[in-house]
Amino acid sequence: MRPGTKFYNEYESVWNEIPLPEDCECPLCNRIGIWKHRGDGIVSLHIPCYKCAYNNRFKWFGYPINGVKYSAPRYERHDSSPTIDLPNHIPSIEMTNRELLMEVIIDQYDTLITKGSIQPSIHTSNCMDKVINSVLEYISTTERGDLLRYCRDILSLWESLGSLPIPDEDDTEYEIKYFKNLYHQGVFENSISQVSSLQPNERGTLLNEEYKVTQKQELCKQGASILDTIMDDNGIMNEEGYRQLMDIFLKLYN
Ligand SMILES: [Zn+2]
Repeated sequence: MRPGTKFYNEYESVWNEIPLPEDCECPLCNRIGIWKHRGDGIVSLHIPCYKCAYNNRFKWFGYPINGVKYSAPRYERHDSSPTIDLPNHIPSIEMTNRELLMEVIIDQYDTLITKGSIQPSIHTSNCMDKVINSVLEYISTTERGDLLRYCRDILSLWESLGSLPIPDEDDTEYEIKYFKNLYHQGVFENSISQVSSLQPNERGTLLNEEYKVTQKQELCKQGASILDTIMDDNGIMNEEGYRQLMDIFLKLYN
């Protein structure tokens, strides 16, 4: 099986300590959710279906999850109806961030049309901007920095594309079709920020490096502010100032 989030992959050793639900009213979770034996005879819902994941803002009992897709994500199918007749032998798979955001974007496209907030036509070219912005707004209410970064990258790439292709006559869906095409071609994937394209261990190293740089900058700021205080004090350093500065130098050295 393919890991979509760390919860699925890396937190396996601790997940049986988390009070995950032992039953669920959602028929889809029961059908395609990832259920696991905890070892004490109890089975818990490890990864819910996409809809339940969405409703929980992609966190499940404190851990990030993307939810389980149907046999294939909707954008890979030709029709738009969910395939719920999933043969038993196909294992459930957690969605990747890429599949997840595409699913959220298509959902939001439909929702905004229903609400009347967008009216795709051959004369419009800003429907997808509205859709992605609205998805970004939603994602920023979740505690998923990884999804937020991804979504921001998608938006800035979409905005940087310039003019859209000239639509065929009556092709009111040309914007979303163009977007899906680019998605399929991996245009967004290839340009997504360095961090999200790295392997998990490389990503850890890079994030650690970023963290160290931020920490150094923070220490330098603190040092500068101590020096400012000294200058305000007629250039006289007291013992506390000396101690604080030495402390900062030591931290920078290490
Ligand atoms: Zn569900």
